[in-house]
Amino acid sequence: MSTSTDWINRADKHVMKTYGRYPIVAQRGEGCRLWDVDGKSYLDFLAGVAVNNLGHCHPKVVAALREQAGKLLHCSNFYHIPLQIELAEWLCEQSFADRAFFCNSGAEANEAAMKLVRKHSREKYGEDRFEVITALASFHGRTIGTISATGQEKVKAGFTPLVPGFRYVPFGDPDAMRQAITPSICAIMLEPVQGEGGVNVPPPGYLKAVRDICDEFDLVLIYDEVQVGCGRTGTLWAYEQEGVAPDILTLAKALAGGPPIGAMLTTEELAKRLGPGSHGSTFGGNPLICSAALAAMQTMVDDGVLDNCRTMGNSLTGQLEQLKNKYTFIKEVRGRGLIIGMEMTIEGGALVHAAMERGLLINCTVGNVLRFLPPLIVSRAEIDEAITILDEVLATVEASGPC
Ligand SMILES: *Cc1c(COP(=O)(O)O)cnc(C)c1O
Repeated sequence: MSTSTDWINRADKHVMKTYGRYPIVAQRGEGCRLWDVDGKSYLDFLAGVAVNNLGHCHPKVVAALREQAGKLLHCSNFYHIPLQIELAEWLCEQSFADRAFFCNSGAEANEAAMKLVRKHSREKYGEDRFEVITALASFHGRTIGTISATGQEKVKAGFTPLVPGFRYVPFGDPDAMRQAITPSICAIMLEPVQGEGGVNVPPPGYLKAVRDICDEFDLVLIYDEVQVGCGRTGTLWAYEQEGVAPDILTLAKALAGGPPIGAMLTTEELAKRLGPGSHGSTFGGNPLICSAALAAMQTMVDDGVLDNCRTMGNSLTGQLEQLKNKYTFIKEVRGRGLIIGMEMTIEGGALVHAAMERGLLINCTVGNVLRFLPPLIVSRAEIDEAITILDEVLATVEASGPC
């Protein structure tokens, strides 16, 4: 039987090194736990970066996949696909949207959104109005188009020339947004809460102010909820908590409870701009993935998962606040539901490693923000276990003095 070391040595030879991977070789998951090939178990408070919102291998998602796998795996979008129709109906019933387009990832959902706003604006206003405003510290994906949209230099380095037509403003500042509007702007794209950029929650009223700006200048408002949608913030969509709907919503990560999917939801008025032949995806909305997404989303709303997310989000935030009172190098705890960031005055990389060695998986983003993204089904006992490990890890920093 191959050990972790064997696998890591093999990975070293033939797998592209696009990720700085931790020395864990994943084998199996159940609920909030992940096991490696050596049999060591981890409490997973990263959840595949907000993908495993229902935990690993949720029985209802697995059952739906098993059943559908024996019937029809793939079918071209040249034909109608009942499960895709059902998923589109469900998503529209549960949101502001009238129509859905399906693809396979967050970047692709954002690509679809960017194509749609360009076409809409060109047909309505002519070809000079194509620019999109996004936020600094945003993250929209890894394709050439979505790194162009992303307001962080580190994802762009080495890949120029990028796609023209993006302007960046500080996140959370409605005045800066208003000042950035010119006659060439056609849309604004924002994450309602920034994930990769450090778990940044905008001040109250920000999204409403941006909505007003969009209405005043007839701009399309796109929310990228690839990370914070699908229950992560305690409501099905993050925008619900601000009471302001977008014109386009992009989803991916947790939508199918684990397997890959992307979706763009929009209004009838915008949807009519993309007619036959204007956009597509071979795999998008295939029967297998739609069976998983329907099972995942129905479980999310029917099984009390959103309630649990809110309750456990409060509990985890409260316990992290207590750690903040204990350790002077913790600056701020912030988030919504179960996307929580803990900003520190020290680098977080070593802490992530130390937590991993003690059996807790977390993540560090922008260098000094520990990010907690447990499955939304997490229990109080699991939160207590995570806090105990984290407390031990933070105590070692205190003991060894400031970094
Ligand atoms: C992860 C993420 C993406 C990119 O999704 P992929 O599926 O990796 O292409 C886009 N936007 C946000 C906000 C994300 O968190």
